[in-house]
Amino acid sequence: MFRRQVDLSRELYGIDGWSMGYFSIGEESGEVCAHPLGDPAVSVRLPEVIEKAKAAGLALPLILRFPQIIATQLRRLDQAFQDAIWNCNYQGKHRGVFPFKVNQRREFIDNVVYYGKDLAYGLEVGSKTEFVAALSYSLHEDALLVCNGFKDQEFIELGFIGAQMGKNIIMVVEGPDELKKIIEQSKHWPQCPEIGMRVKLYSRGAGKWSKSSGDASKFGLTTLELLHGLKMIEEAHLADKFTMLHFHIGSQITEIKRVKNAIKEAARVYCKVKKMGFPLSQLDIGGGIGVDYDGSKTSFHSSANYSLQEFANDVIYQIGEVCNHEGIEHPDIITESGRVVAAYHSVVVTDIREIQSTEAGPPFEQLGLSPKDEKRHKNLKELQYIFEHINRKNHVEYYHDAIEYYDEVFTLFNLGYIDVEERAIAEQIFYRICQQALRFSSMEPHMLEEFEELQHRMVSKYLANFSIFQSIPDTWAIDQLFPVMPLSHHGEKPTLKANIVDITCDSDGCLEKFIDRRDVRSVLDLHDPKGLNYYLGFFLVGAYQESLANEHNLLGAINEVEILADGMDYKINKLTEGDPIDELLTARNYDTNEMLGNYEIQLRDHPPAETAMLLAKVQKILQSLPYLSSEGKAEPPPH
Ligand code: PLP
Repeated sequence: MFRRQVDLSRELYGIDGWSMGYFSIGEESGEVCAHPLGDPAVSVRLPEVIEKAKAAGLALPLILRFPQIIATQLRRLDQAFQDAIWNCNYQGKHRGVFPFKVNQRREFIDNVVYYGKDLAYGLEVGSKTEFVAALSYSLHEDALLVCNGFKDQEFIELGFIGAQMGKNIIMVVEGPDELKKIIEQSKHWPQCPEIGMRVKLYSRGAGKWSKSSGDASKFGLTTLELLHGLKMIEEAHLADKFTMLHFHIGSQITEIKRVKNAIKEAARVYCKVKKMGFPLSQLDIGGGIGVDYDGSKTSFHSSANYSLQEFANDVIYQIGEVCNHEGIEHPDIITESGRVVAAYHSVVVTDIREIQSTEAGPPFEQLGLSPKDEKRHKNLKELQYIFEHINRKNHVEYYHDAIEYYDEVFTLFNLGYIDVEERAIAEQIFYRICQQALRFSSMEPHMLEEFEELQHRMVSKYLANFSIFQSIPDTWAIDQLFPVMPLSHHGEKPTLKANIVDITCDSDGCLEKFIDRRDVRSVLDLHDPKGLNYYLGFFLVGAYQESLANEHNLLGAINEVEILADGMDYKINKLTEGDPIDELLTARNYDTNEMLGNYEIQLRDHPPAETAMLLAKVQKILQSLPYLSSEGKAEPPPH
C-alpha cells in the first residue's frame, strides 16, 4: 500500500520527468532524496538534511546546494558534445564557458571553476563587475574568458589587463563604437585580446526570450555593420586577432527546430567571413539549452522538446555539414550554457506555518449557534435545508438556489434585517454546500465550468515561510513554473488541494500555477500535516533566481547549506547565513544606532530598567532573520 502510494506520488509530482535523475522519492521512507552524482545508489534524504541544519542553528527557509550536481551537469554537457564530435567525425573541439549572470554567487562560481578545471571550462561576463570578479580566478590555461555586453573604455581596459595577465580573453564586439575603442587601445598595450563579433541572425529563438535574436534584437551587428567592422579590423592590422563569430538566440529555447535554423545560418556566415581571409577558428553559439521544468518534453515555455544529446548532435552535425559544403575547416564550438548547468543544483526548502481553508473559523455549532432557531431568518433555514438535502442528482439546481439565498443574506444584512451572527452562520453553511456540490460534480464524467471555477476559489492556502520575490522571483515576473512538492509523506494520499502563499504582504506573493505534464495545474495536491513538520521543496531554482532575487518587504537572502555526497555518506557545510534585519535596514541607508536612540527617546517616560530591557529585545530582533521564527514564547512586558 505504502509503495503503491509512493508510485502514485511520483506520477502526481512528475519527479521522474523533470529531475534528470538528481531527485527521487525513497520507496521505503516516502521522502524526497537527492542523488548529487546522478547515481541512485548515492542518496541524501532531504528531510534529514533539514533537521541537521536546524540542529546546527540554521532556520528555514534554506537553500540546499549540491555542488556535485554542477560538476555532473558540466560533465554531461561536455560529454554530449564529445559524443557528437566523435559520431560526426567533426574536426573542431567543444569549449564551454559559464555565463556569470546566471548565478553570480561566489559559492557557485567557485564550484564552476573548481569542477570545470579538468574540462578547461571558462567564464562569460556581461558587465565590468562580473569581469573584475572573473579575472581574479585562476582558470585552466586553455580556458576562455568571453566578454559580452555593452562596453565602455574601462571595460575594454580590463580586457587588455586580462590579456597582459596571459588570459585567453575574447572581447565580443556588440556595436561599431566598441570596435573603435578596442582598436585605439591596442596601440598602447603589448598584448591585445582576441576579438569576436556578435552577429544579428535572421533566425529567432522560441519561448519567452526569443527577443534576444532576430533582426530587431538589441544585440549584435547587422550584416552591413559586420562588413564595416571587418574593414576596420583589416585597416588596423588586427586581422590575426579576429578569431570568433558569436551569436545567442535567447535563453530557454523550447524548440530544437529553432536551434537548427540558427546554427545553419550562423555557420554559413562563419564560412563566408572565413573565406574573406580572416583567421576565424571559433564559433560561439551562446546559451539557450532549455531545462525541462515540467517534465513534459514539449515546446511549452517551461519545457524543451529535445535532450542535451540531441542539442549537441544537431549543433555539431549542422555546422559540420555547412563547413563541408563550403570547404572550410570545422571551427571549435564555444557554448555559453548557463541554465542547464545551474538549474538543478539548488533546492529552496521551507516549512508550512498555517493552512488557511475557505471555511474560516470554528464550526458555528461550537459557539452554540444554530440556523434552526425559531428567530433565525428564513434564508438561513433554506440554506440549511439545501445542505441537508443536496445529492448527486440535484446538486447543480440546489447549488444555484443556494447562491440566490446567500446573495440575499448580504442584501438583508446591508439593510439591517440580519445580524452578524446570522451572517456568520450563513457564510459557513454556504461553504459546506459548496463542498458538497463540488464532491458531487467531481463524480460526473465532465465537471461543469462553474464548478471548476468554484474549485479554484475553494482551495486551501498553505502559508509557506519564504518570499517568492527572494527565492523564486521568475514565478512572479514571467510566470515561470518550477517543480514544487512536499519533501515527505509520499506514502500517504494527499487530501487537500492547495495554493501556496508566501509571507510577504503582497497579494502577488502566491503560487497558483503548478507543473503538469499535460497541462498547467491550478492547484497542488498536499497532505494535512496534522501538526507535524511539513516541508516543501522548490526545485530547479539554481539558474537566474538568486541573481534576480529582490528584497520585497525587506525579506532578504536566506540561510544556505552545501551538501557533499561522500561514498554512501554525506557531509553538510554551512555556507552563509541569511541577511539579518539590521543589515537589510543598513543597506537601505537606515542607521540602526540612530534608530535605537529614537526608540529610547520615545520610551523616556518609562523606568530606566524597563527601557533597557525593551531596547535589548529590539536589538535582538535586529540581529535576527526577517523570516518567521520557530523560537521564542510570549513573555509578559515588564512592569
Ligand atoms: N550567453 C548570452 C550572451 C546570454 O545572453 C545568455 C542568457 O540569456 C546566456 C549565454 C545563457 O543562456 P542560458 O542560461 O539559456 O544557457
